[in-house]
Amino acid sequence: MGGKSMSNGKGDKPRFYPDDKYRDNYNKIFKKKGNKKMDKSVKDKCVMCGAKTEYDKETHIDNRKNYIEGAGQMCQPCHQRIY
Ligand SMILES: [Zn+2]
Repeated sequence: MGGKSMSNGKGDKPRFYPDDKYRDNYNKIFKKKGNKKMDKSVKDKCVMCGAKTEYDKETHIDNRKNYIEGAGQMCQPCHQRIY
């Protein structure tokens, strides 16, 4: 029993197989959950009246109209009323 690592040929194989399995499982579960939750595309709501806007929550701000920085997304009528 010196300073050599234990490589007898029996403890070498099963080392990374649980890791792989775990990762696969985790991936499956995570994907399933994400898919279910993201089933419908979520539209951003107008911060003033709560009406649905035409923009997904994922839509970048640069690609939106009627978006007030610091306030949020507004619908067209509300935006026009204020500005
Ligand atoms: Zn509105």
